[in-house]
Amino acid sequence: MHPLARIPRDLFVCLAPPRCPGCDQRLSPSEPAGFCVVCAPLIEEARFGSACFEYGGPLAEAVRALKYLGRWRVAEYLGGLMVPRALRLYRGRVDAVVPIPLHRKRLRTRGYNQAELLARPVARMLRVPVRRGLLERVKAGRPQVGVGRSERALALRGAFAATESGWPPRVLILDDVRTTGATLDAATAAIKAAQPVTLHRLTLAVTVADDVS
Ligand SMILES: [Zn+2]
Repeated sequence: MHPLARIPRDLFVCLAPPRCPGCDQRLSPSEPAGFCVVCAPLIEEARFGSACFEYGGPLAEAVRALKYLGRWRVAEYLGGLMVPRALRLYRGRVDAVVPIPLHRKRLRTRGYNQAELLARPVARMLRVPVRRGLLERVKAGRPQVGVGRSERALALRGAFAATESGWPPRVLILDDVRTTGATLDAATAAIKAAQPVTLHRLTLAVTVADDVS
């Protein structure tokens, strides 16, 4: 038995009481990890097929905490929230989950790829592997928030490179937030150029701007 396994869970809770990823309030020990009772009802399911939730409110805060405040543990919970839609849409229909990769410089500074962490619970429940290394981000930088559809597409042209072989026939590409879809489009183009793969998409959240076209 690992020595830490003998430490009661309550002690961990005392040392690092779980906080709501939406408002950072401490959760009471009786509350399950995740959004608090105030934040939870504010999470809106997306009408969009391949995105799970509308981006905004507590969910946006949770994504910011995950990406910019080093709260990587939030990903297990957020990824878990993606599971029902993932199962509904893709159970038995994909052979692997490929998270949208970060550029290696960004990965070094952040320490983890949030899309990969989100992909883990999804892949586990779909009973397929998370495959990384098939797709690489070769161009650093993300388009600025607020730039238009065509600028984003332009900024992301050639952003990804896919390996020439080793792709399973049906792949679910997964990302955290979808804005115009330019990131997923650029990844799709790179993969399709490498191998004829059936691609599906899933994102945690979609920004409202995406509905305006
Ligand atoms: Zn909260």
